Parts: sequence; structure tokens; C-alpha cells
Amino acid sequence: MEKLKHLPDDECLMDVDEQAWEILLEKRGGCSCSMCAPCFNCSEPISEEELNDVGYTYEKERLTVMTKRESLEILLLLSSIEAWSLNTTPLLPDYLHEELSEKKEQLTNFILSEEQK
Ligand SMILES: [Zn+2]
Repeated sequence: MEKLKHLPDDECLMDVDEQAWEILLEKRGGCSCSMCAPCFNCSEPISEEELNDVGYTYEKERLTVMTKRESLEILLLLSSIEAWSLNTTPLLPDYLHEELSEKKEQLTNFILSEEQK
């Protein structure tokens, strides 16, 4: 999948990439500003999906690196939730319990792995 370009909140797609803006307008059924400006298709806020369609996103690039400390904190939190859930009613559904165990194991492996700092 092609990487989406980040569109900052204070930027207008029209200014950043005129071609993408025109494609988006086309998908909305075209511009009719000549009849009454700005027309509905031009003034309607752009949704995330519409942006994605033309190769953009509002979302900032995510940091994919999680530190070991953060991982450990999450692991501890999950363990606490798991321990708490054993002593409370209603019980945690099985599938959630399995998922919890699975994630805990993944985190443990990550924390113990050597490649990460
Ligand atoms: Zn228009």
C-alpha cells in the first residue's frame, strides 16, 4: 500500500496539492462555484476517508518504536487487570482472557529481546 502523506490541520488540500483536490472534488460530483461560491462540494469539510482516497491523511506519522520501559508498564498494567479480573464478577470472557495472555507473552518477548534498546 502506498504511504499516505500527512496533511497538517492548518493546511488546505487545495493549497498543498491542487491535483489531489481536483480528484477529490470530482469524486464529490464536481465544483459548481460558478453558480454559487463556494459551492457545497468545495466548502464541505474533507473527511479522513476522502483524504485517504487521494493519498493523504490527517494523522501524524506514528512513532512505531516503543521503549522497553513503556512495554514493561503496559505489561504490569495488563497483569494487574488480569489479576483483578480473577477476583471479580462477572468474570472476564474467555476470549478476552486468552487475548490478554497472548499480549502479555508478546510484550514479554519484546522486553527480553536484544534488538530493542
Ligand atoms: Zn466549488
